[in-house]
Amino acid sequence: MKKCLLLSFFVIISIKTFCWGFYGHQKINYFAVYLLPPEMMVLFKPHIQFLTDHAVDPDKRRYAVAAEAPKHYIDIDFYGSYPYPDLPRKYDDAVKKYTEDTVVANGIVPWWIQIMQQRLTAAFKEKNQAKILRLSAEIGHYIADSHVPLHASSNHDGQHTNQKGIHGFWESRVPELLAEKEFDFMIGKAAYIDNIGKYVWERVLESGAASDTVLKGEAALTKQFPEDRKFAFEERNGKIIRQYSSDFTAAYNKLLNGMVERRMRLSISSIANFWYTAWVNAGQPDLKNLHTTAFSAEDLKEFEAMNDAWKNSASKGRAHE
Ligand SMILES: [Zn+2]
Repeated sequence: MKKCLLLSFFVIISIKTFCWGFYGHQKINYFAVYLLPPEMMVLFKPHIQFLTDHAVDPDKRRYAVAAEAPKHYIDIDFYGSYPYPDLPRKYDDAVKKYTEDTVVANGIVPWWIQIMQQRLTAAFKEKNQAKILRLSAEIGHYIADSHVPLHASSNHDGQHTNQKGIHGFWESRVPELLAEKEFDFMIGKAAYIDNIGKYVWERVLESGAASDTVLKGEAALTKQFPEDRKFAFEERNGKIIRQYSSDFTAAYNKLLNGMVERRMRLSISSIANFWYTAWVNAGQPDLKNLHTTAFSAEDLKEFEAMNDAWKNSASKGRAHE
């Protein structure tokens, strides 16, 4: 039984790849803080490092908890074709129609974000600082994932079209190479979201619709680049590794007409909108006067356990190294 559980755990983490990369997720949560009103800034700005560092906790948790993975994506094409009229937007209705196993197996990100939003709103109501920060960091991750086109496609790593590696290429390689130099992260202010469910589904449907462009663009460009120009041995994190060449990456970004930057910017404003909406719906509590300002022993233990799981299983399931 134990062996079986262990096996299914590794299968899950090896077939699903990573989201925005650590670099992208951390940047996204970081910039979201600057969109908040002053009443929220008093809490979020002093803790910007925590919100940045912990933007990647949900990915780390995937090494420890098998049930974590489906919270990061939805294989929306399983449910027909755009705009997926057959797929009920409410979780219970979707389960009734397809069974829970099927719904979970195809990913639950649009529903999971809504659960996280309820929890964050409750944390603001409780005026519980530790919970507010932890949940804000984590919901930021799931929201950002829902903006990634390949997180809304069953062909999530180009495995059906001989394009393996495209997942990390789009969400890690492109931003890591170009975000600092070319992307603009000056974005307006957080806005209140009237209907969270509707907002989430709109973003997910946009992602699903864009996944075709993501895949077809890479395939078209590959025809123009001989293998030795498509890939190159370049330095990454102090190591020389074979990866998509800078030329190919820049050409792809141009071909997509700034899509990666647009989705990254939208992720940032969406996160700020969710944080702001949770705070408003909780009655705009005074964030200068919170209790539970320190993390509990349980929180600290969980942070550590996630880190350990992530580090210790590095050689077994990391798809984007
Ligand atoms: Zn993720």
